[in-house]
Amino acid sequence: MKNAIVQFPCPANEPVKSYLKGSPERIALDAELERQSNTIVDIPLIIGGKEIRTGNVAEVVCPHDHKHVLARYHKAGEKEIKMAIEAAMAAHEQWANTDWTVRAAIIMKCAELLATKYRPIMNAATMLGQSKNIYQAEIDSACETIDFFRYNVHYASKLYAIQPKLGAGVINTTEYRPLEGFVLAVTPFNFTSIASNLNMTPVLMGNTTIWKPSSTATLSNYYLMKLYEEAGVPAGVVNFLPGQGSLIGKICCESKDLAGIHFTGSTGTFQTLWKSVGNNIANYVSYPRLVGETGGKDYIFVHPSSTVDEVAWAAFTGAYEYQGQKCSAASRMYIPKSLWPAVLTKMKKFASEVKMGDVKDCKNFINAVIDEASWNNIDSYLKFAEEAEDAKIVMGGKRDKSKGYFVEPTVIETSNPHFKTMEEEIFGPVLTVYPYDDDKVDEAVHYLDTTSIYGLTGSVFGRDRAAVQKISDALCYTAGNFYVNDRPTGAVVGMQPFGGSRASGTNDKAGGEFNLIRWVLPRVIKETLVTPTDYRYSYMKE
Ligand code: NAD
Repeated sequence: MKNAIVQFPCPANEPVKSYLKGSPERIALDAELERQSNTIVDIPLIIGGKEIRTGNVAEVVCPHDHKHVLARYHKAGEKEIKMAIEAAMAAHEQWANTDWTVRAAIIMKCAELLATKYRPIMNAATMLGQSKNIYQAEIDSACETIDFFRYNVHYASKLYAIQPKLGAGVINTTEYRPLEGFVLAVTPFNFTSIASNLNMTPVLMGNTTIWKPSSTATLSNYYLMKLYEEAGVPAGVVNFLPGQGSLIGKICCESKDLAGIHFTGSTGTFQTLWKSVGNNIANYVSYPRLVGETGGKDYIFVHPSSTVDEVAWAAFTGAYEYQGQKCSAASRMYIPKSLWPAVLTKMKKFASEVKMGDVKDCKNFINAVIDEASWNNIDSYLKFAEEAEDAKIVMGGKRDKSKGYFVEPTVIETSNPHFKTMEEEIFGPVLTVYPYDDDKVDEAVHYLDTTSIYGLTGSVFGRDRAAVQKISDALCYTAGNFYVNDRPTGAVVGMQPFGGSRASGTNDKAGGEFNLIRWVLPRVIKETLVTPTDYRYSYMKE
């Protein structure tokens, strides 16, 4: 019998561990890195709780050492995709009817397991498979993932408590039903936390999912799946389906039971999925919820009243941490001509100090980009800049893919506010800078607003607070996450709920109540205590 009214209070954010040499966390992580470096994991599909091996396999390698194979994963074919839909639908009723506090308890157990036993496992897999250094892995695969679990439970308890008022002789309630069907979670390579969250938010609200992990994050994502199983997520609630995205997307979009898509990745992929839903729109049981966080062309705007050292820090760390592969990474900067030489000098000093290489060597600030396709894409943009007349590479620019997919932190300077790399997302360690005349702030703001199709993150620097506010107002629709005197990256769950608009997504804010509400169908119930028996209104009676 479950009849307690449970409130989950707002949690504290998971502390980031230091990993100092000799610390318990460092010893555990080093041992796990060693274990995973010397293992080749055979990763099955997991459908309805059963492991399935199709024999159609692909490799997971270290991006910084691409001859090093970490795992082989089995790919789903048409038959397995249909099995996964059946498994998700079969598990739906029982999971939807499971008391929400029981679901919350399982999610809270996921957080506890990850904070303890699974912490080194998830961090090591994210470091080796996605080429993150210790710090970048810790803030993603440990802390942010844990925060998503705990905060969403808190937000769910707030959401379920939103109830209509009672009337005279009438009781009104709202039931928050899970969606009617399954949710397709399509997840990106760059954040283990996002891969987890895109499944576990709908799951917390009573939905079942089909999970299409990114092929370049399959190792960490498989360990996440093992964590869910250990925490007690029942068979069929999350169905782990590595394989070809276009095939999985197509078959799931053709199912009448598709109830929602929870997506993070590139704008092009999301638009393909959206079109596919549009083509099938008459066939669905209900209109699928489409929630997608997509590409960006995130910016730093520098007002002439800014401080050189602060801007240099923001540009360097904002553009190059995790090799510029955060959706929020700074990739274009507008800066007064009077400040640019000093900022560039400072950035070059940082660049001369940082080291690039393997994740296991803690001295390396920069690691590899995710795969050869990404390296080739960055290479083509750099070649374009090298040959352009209205741009030049003024810092970095060297790249080498012989051992790992390495690209130096790079600055392209341009005199053309519409230069290709001011407009298009590159998703690598490349910052394009447009120095503007100090007396043309408004013109530069206008360029920023109208140059790119995206609207994800951005920041403005300046000590003149009134000028900063004017710029902030003018840039109202350029970013869903906007920063003042800070870099445009590093959102924290519970503090800066994340997401953008324009071509950057549906802005449903991961890590907040706004997202949870997309995974429920409220049913409002009116119960009349004494039902009338006469059709006449009182004024009609004598
Ligand atoms: P991607 O679009 O290449 O892949 C995302 C996922 O979609 C992968 O699992 C992939 O296998 C799958 N996929 C590819 N084609 C598909 C298809 N036709 N149908 C169904 N699924 C398909 O993106 P990525 O390279 O993994 O991630 C980088 C992109 O993600 C960047 O554009 C970045 O800006 C964006 N991103 C955005 C946010 C945000 O919050 N806005 C966060 C992280 C990443």
